[in-house]
Amino acid sequence: MSIRANLNSARRWVVKIGSALLTDNGRGLDEKAIAGWVEQLAQLQKQGVELVLVSSGAVAAGMTRLGWSQRPDTIHELQAAAAVGQTGLVQTYEQEFSRYGLKTAQVLLDHDDLSNRQRYLNARSTIRALTGLGVIPIVNENDTVVTDEIRFGDNDTLGALVANLVEAEVLVILTDQDGMFTADPRSNPDAQLITETAASDSSLDGKAGDGGKLGRGGMITKVKAARLAARSGAHTIIVGGRIDNVIGRLRKGELLGTLLTADQQPQAARKRWLAGHLQVRGQLQLDDGAVRVLSQKGRSLLPVGVSRVSGDFNRGDMVSCVDSSGHEVARGLVNYSVQESRRIIGRPSEEIEERLGYVDEPELIHRDNLVML
Ligand code: GLU
Repeated sequence: MSIRANLNSARRWVVKIGSALLTDNGRGLDEKAIAGWVEQLAQLQKQGVELVLVSSGAVAAGMTRLGWSQRPDTIHELQAAAAVGQTGLVQTYEQEFSRYGLKTAQVLLDHDDLSNRQRYLNARSTIRALTGLGVIPIVNENDTVVTDEIRFGDNDTLGALVANLVEAEVLVILTDQDGMFTADPRSNPDAQLITETAASDSSLDGKAGDGGKLGRGGMITKVKAARLAARSGAHTIIVGGRIDNVIGRLRKGELLGTLLTADQQPQAARKRWLAGHLQVRGQLQLDDGAVRVLSQKGRSLLPVGVSRVSGDFNRGDMVSCVDSSGHEVARGLVNYSVQESRRIIGRPSEEIEERLGYVDEPELIHRDNLVML
């Protein structure tokens, strides 16, 4: 089946809405447009999709609240506007989603959060917990401390990193153009919409052109974002946010926008990434029972199945799992540091809180973060 047709069954979507769409002529939030997207997104969520929304628009909302008609020039003023506006942005989403009985959560992230292993795991667990509760996480860049989006329109990249983080099957980038074209459609009447190609297709770089005035990202950051998303197996669709019922129609497999495909399934991509890209920081020796459930049943590794710990690792680091004869059987991202692990191994997960005073996760390594060798 084609990827488009499969969108109907994709369970995890990240949808990014950019500044160019969210703002009313560059000033203020376009609340009517937001209401329209929220209606579509609420429907998607009601179909059982785990949805994460990545939204810009804080600067625009802040400008209205502060009574500024001109976008300021200095980064600090933009950051201030974003800080004022973020509350308004989230308030608007909260209000709109509540019409459909849905709750929202504000998640502010920066790229460092996602490259630091420990913060990566924390962000992942929190977002997973939120979607599991049926809450819609609304992610934006943490503009008080980072200015990537203000400078480069980088919420496209953030959208891709979030797609990696939650292992989304699809990243939808809603923008003010219908998709990617073979040439600039504003100056070339022969320009044609690219309906589908691989994210890795290098001919895209030449076609990406410049972004519009408000969409600071432009097409090239979207192509780069699609390549990043493809690393965890997510397909990216760059599509016009003003197309009538765009989300619902994409879900039904309609040929809208530009689909940039990943060449691997999320599961396979993640496992390859886990196996190949991280340095091993320590070792867990598993008892025979744990080796069996891991290899035969594809379960998570619980503290109770571990008999020895060595090395120097923190939460989020890669550790190697060996059997009782020292033979490596798996690798994975560990949820507890070496000191914490020492205190909980051999014990049932219910005792984690009593031993540490808190529980990060009941597993020592979650099965999604584990690769059998
Ligand atoms: N993250 C910011 C926002 O949500 C930056 C966007 C911009 O530069 O307008 O508004």
